Amino acid sequence: AIDPNFAESRERSSVGDWLDIDADYDVWGEVDQPERLGIHGTHVAVDFDICDGSGPCLENCPVDVFGWADTPGHPTSDRKAAPVNESQCIDCMLCVDICPVDAIDVDGS
Ligand code: SF4
Repeated sequence: AIDPNFAESRERSSVGDWLDIDADYDVWGEVDQPERLGIHGTHVAVDFDICDGSGPCLENCPVDVFGWADTPGHPTSDRKAAPVNESQCIDCMLCVDICPVDAIDVDGS
């Protein structure tokens, strides 16, 4: 499962530096592409190294926080649910509850 204390235990960088998606959120290391992709987002945080690309969060979020990011070469899946609109999150916790691999943390929950 995602570590809810990632902001204390990991180094911060920006998604704009390396991931080819239209978004600007923080990434929390370690990052070593393409095998290690880190935790994406802060208020809505998705551990890309756990995400299996199945997408119930993306399909069910009431305010469309998530968008697909292509991650070819990653050992778990070749797409990840990126929190591209994390500022829109209304803290309903649906994504946290339905993620099959416990990859999402919302507001340190
Ligand atoms: Fe969307 Fe609710 Fe998850 Fe926020 S907590 S990202 S609103 S599903």
